[in-house]
Amino acid sequence: MISADFLIRHIRRLVTPVGPAPLRGAEQRRVVSIGDAAIASQRGRIVFVGRDEDCDRGVSGTPDAEVSDARECTVVPGFVDPHTHVVFAGDRREELRRRLAGASYAEIAADGGGIVKTVRATRDASEDALADATRIRLGEMLRAGTTTAEAKSGYGLATDAELKMLRVIGRLNGEQPIDLVPTFLGAHEIPTEYRQRRRDYVNLLLHEMIPAVASLHLASWCDVFCETGVYTPEEAREILEAGARAGLRPRIHADELARSGGSRVAAEVGARSADHLLFVERDDAERMASAGVVATLLPIAAFYLKMTRFAPARMLIDTGVAVAIATDQNPGGGFSPSMPFAMTLACFSMGLTFEEALTAATLNAAYAIDRDADAGSLEIGKLMDAVIVRGEAVDLLRVGAPVIDAVVKNGRRVFSRSAEA
Ligand SMILES: [Zn+2]
Repeated sequence: MISADFLIRHIRRLVTPVGPAPLRGAEQRRVVSIGDAAIASQRGRIVFVGRDEDCDRGVSGTPDAEVSDARECTVVPGFVDPHTHVVFAGDRREELRRRLAGASYAEIAADGGGIVKTVRATRDASEDALADATRIRLGEMLRAGTTTAEAKSGYGLATDAELKMLRVIGRLNGEQPIDLVPTFLGAHEIPTEYRQRRRDYVNLLLHEMIPAVASLHLASWCDVFCETGVYTPEEAREILEAGARAGLRPRIHADELARSGGSRVAAEVGARSADHLLFVERDDAERMASAGVVATLLPIAAFYLKMTRFAPARMLIDTGVAVAIATDQNPGGGFSPSMPFAMTLACFSMGLTFEEALTAATLNAAYAIDRDADAGSLEIGKLMDAVIVRGEAVDLLRVGAPVIDAVVKNGRRVFSRSAEA
């Protein structure tokens, strides 16, 4: 008998993609669906998943095991959010109002809004204040089902402020339930004070920030905002290659506002993921597919920025690129912390099937941040991270309805709607 200290029994339906990750092409929609299911874990790792009747024969609960019944519910993997700017200070709600009144991203940036406004507030914030603001947002993400998330720096744009952001991520990683994966994004924007001498800032990234971040082990990944007017493909390549030499693996913001070449850089440097991709074309996608680059799509950003278009997700899947989705939570265009909302837009604005969107929000998202060995699917040996949905899995698309009954992290219930009521 296998012993288990956490069991969910009589689950109406358990739905999960199955590795190895990533799932591409037709594989992306292949999920396992088990009726009257059970799942069990011991010390945070899944030890059984299957039909409930087989659970009795193979699993024995420890004397203090937590056993629950989920006959009204569907269990899916905890969501993995592989692209967030969740650490920030300040407030840009006014920009939302301006966008609703017709202002463009470029007009708002020209008036001192956009990223540079958040940079001022984040530089001024104490480390404690930054952690407090971020902790609240992580709590919102958890209640929306996220159990693993990437978090970027990039609102410091100076060595001390970038290191401060990364320390906040490291600290919060240990003190709240969501596992955080840190990314250094010193190349998020050219800071205002370097606009007339941008090469000096690139040199600062290459020769001071990247070595400092790497030597302090504050990040796993290095990211660049490769876009017209921000970082050129040549600069992005240089920064990502320097990061890789220091042990920070590459990922990139690519082709969001125009076809500016970021997805090509991703393929050239062997980035794990190229993100946004609203303007990616088929030959870019073919390069990404052959280099094994994941497309991480951020439909919530496209929605709130009123981009009037979304990434060509169907073309990417048909070209053999593994597709992941993320919230892009940030103070400008990433106004929702909800992976179920990202799934909804993936289905209704990018043409994914429900199963493709679920894989994009779980297993492929975990692969996009190299956490698929531990997260992203309900399989033996992985972390017991799950979302318990009242009703069917597709009810996750009922935006605004409180369908998430509970969230489980490492075999522990970390959110229960009933406990909140
Ligand atoms: Zn971003």
